[in-house]
Amino acid sequence: MTTPETLLTIITPAYNEAGNIPLLYQRIEKVLKDEMIDWEWIVVDDHSQDDTFKVISQIAQTDIHIKGIRLARNAGSHMAIKCGLDFCQGHCAVVMAADLQDPPETIPDLIDKWQQGAKVVWAVREQRQGEKANTIGFSRLYYFIMRNIVGIREMPATGADFFLIDKQVICALKQFNEAHVSLLTLITWLGFNQDSISYNKEFRFHGKSGWTLRKKLKLVIDSVTAFSYFPIRFMSYFGFFIALAGFIYAGCVFINGLRGIPVEGWASMMIVILVIGGMQMLMLGILGEYLWRTLDESKKRPRYIIEKAVRIGCETREIGL
Ligand code: UDP
Ligand code: MG
Repeated sequence: MTTPETLLTIITPAYNEAGNIPLLYQRIEKVLKDEMIDWEWIVVDDHSQDDTFKVISQIAQTDIHIKGIRLARNAGSHMAIKCGLDFCQGHCAVVMAADLQDPPETIPDLIDKWQQGAKVVWAVREQRQGEKANTIGFSRLYYFIMRNIVGIREMPATGADFFLIDKQVICALKQFNEAHVSLLTLITWLGFNQDSISYNKEFRFHGKSGWTLRKKLKLVIDSVTAFSYFPIRFMSYFGFFIALAGFIYAGCVFINGLRGIPVEGWASMMIVILVIGGMQMLMLGILGEYLWRTLDESKKRPRYIIEKAVRIGCETREIGL
């Protein structure tokens, strides 16, 4: 049961979202005024190029529920959310984007499921308005890989980036300090009692998506390498079958030689060299992806660096100086 003592934290990563934050604030405030619940809103500015932090600071001056953090460099939305979670004080936290694609009016439904005992509640996208076909296709492919190849079958097939987590899950997440990980996959992997509701992802109100193709590809590689050794295992199997095919072919050439059939095939030899050479480079690249992440983790650098904050006691926190 929620009581006026129950504190809900809303965490929003924001990159170039100055045009969206005032309206999002109005909608969140309107929704939560009717709920029997106290709340705080932590907006983490992921080193925006626009006035995002200025807008957050202005709202924070008029409303004590609002807290703001600006990161010193763009760390990606998952790290920005991790930063928000590190400063979260709520009994549960809702993570939602700043662009109004995740309607704040869905928050009471998330809270209902939490009250019924779920520790993680995913808001699963039923429809995605105004999204390009290639964005939806890429997202479906990502969740297919995560469910069927990496083996995290609990991940929603149509994806989710709007969710509620209980304090227990937040405390568990604080024990993880990985640099290259998808936070959503990590939450799914953690276990606990997970439930979902569905919602319609709406049009982006203002600006454009900060998820470039490069960031998306990094997320895919991070997610796969953090939870699976499938690519390495695949390399071993593939190498084995290619070697086997090579030995069989060598046997055929040898037998043909004994029969007096001349050995021909400059073109086929070039194809084999190019294909095998390319595959070897690709496999070295896969090994390199794992190796680089191992090296990066071993450096134990701070995962994010805070440039400035409003209503946050960051002096006791990881500032990375
Ligand atoms: N975001 C961020 N850092 C980034 C890119 C995005 O904090 O480098 C934030 C963004 O401001 C938004 C949320 O992450 O609040 C989701 O991003 P976006 O709407 O661009 O993603 P999409 O809806 O296209 O998946
Ligand atoms: Mg969006």
